Amino acid sequence: MTPDLSVVIPVYNEEAGLPALFARLYPALDALGVPYEVIFVNDGSRDRSAALLRAQFQARPDVTRVILFNANYGQHVAIIAGFERVRGERVVTLDADLQNPPEEIGKLLAAMDAGADYVGGVRVNREDAWWRRAASRLMNRLRERITRIRMTDQGCMLRAYSREIVDAVAAAREVSTFIPALAYTFAYRPVEVEVLHEERVAGESKYSLYKLIRLNFDLVTGFSLVPLQLFSVFGMIVAAVSLVLYAVVIVERAVLGGFLEGVKALWDRDILAFFLIGCTMFGVGLLGEYVGRIYQQVRERPRYVIRAVLERDGDDLELPARDVAHVRETQ
Ligand code: UDP
Ligand code: MG
Repeated sequence: MTPDLSVVIPVYNEEAGLPALFARLYPALDALGVPYEVIFVNDGSRDRSAALLRAQFQARPDVTRVILFNANYGQHVAIIAGFERVRGERVVTLDADLQNPPEEIGKLLAAMDAGADYVGGVRVNREDAWWRRAASRLMNRLRERITRIRMTDQGCMLRAYSREIVDAVAAAREVSTFIPALAYTFAYRPVEVEVLHEERVAGESKYSLYKLIRLNFDLVTGFSLVPLQLFSVFGMIVAAVSLVLYAVVIVERAVLGGFLEGVKALWDRDILAFFLIGCTMFGVGLLGEYVGRIYQQVRERPRYVIRAVLERDGDDLELPARDVAHVRETQ
């Protein structure tokens, strides 16, 4: 039987929280009363997550599929791997740490019943550190200005997509991307619904400050050329203003002979020079971001490598003995 609903969940080092996720996710999905499947994508976890997922597959093989990567490729690549294999007509994404309550999935589906093909969750009570919330607000605002993507809460991964959108995302062949934004560009009738947010049940965030910054560069450079264009405009203005200033200083010296003032201006200019050198370096780095994206894209390497897929009527490859031992440990 083909499912109506596919739930895609990326998993990276979530051994501490997975049992609680299983305990809440399956009853919540059963309660919806629609045929469903859950696709877990293990993103190269180094803990016992793979073993726990295998045990869960054995417990509910009728509705569970597990994709195991050979290494860590990042949350969004993991979701793409799930997208490439979904069977349902509707697809919901969810975090593995229970920050997105699975009981909220019904709200997303109701919005789809009402005609939406893209449903974004908006966290009403975001349970994250204050600096994460502040940084999100800033990036949300920046994105609003430089792209045509309209999302209230881009960081919320509790979202539902129609199969058409999911297929388009999978076909896009982007190497490093931001799924909610990419999917939005394919949406016909996007809507938003408010969803609850909870604290992580166990373990800690998989996003360091560095990874968050990288993710935001993907978001900006993957969807907009405005940063590059701003840079040329900024450079032009700086060049024009300096030329005018230079002319003013020369005339001022010739007419008034203000030698001391000239020396002072030299001092000030050094500080200004540092600022401008900083701007130049940022500009070169920004260029590098785009060039790097082009480089990744033209190499056309596979976006990920799958070590095994666990599914009932698929190629259920055997896990290495190491993971099997882990399964026994956890039972
Ligand atoms: N995740 C992943 N690969 C990564 C990092 C994270 O699959 O490299 C998964 C993680 O297991 C979780 C989701 O992506 O299911 C969101 O990660 P996390 O909760 O750490 O992010 P935060 O809530 O702090 O934004
Ligand atoms: Mg989380």
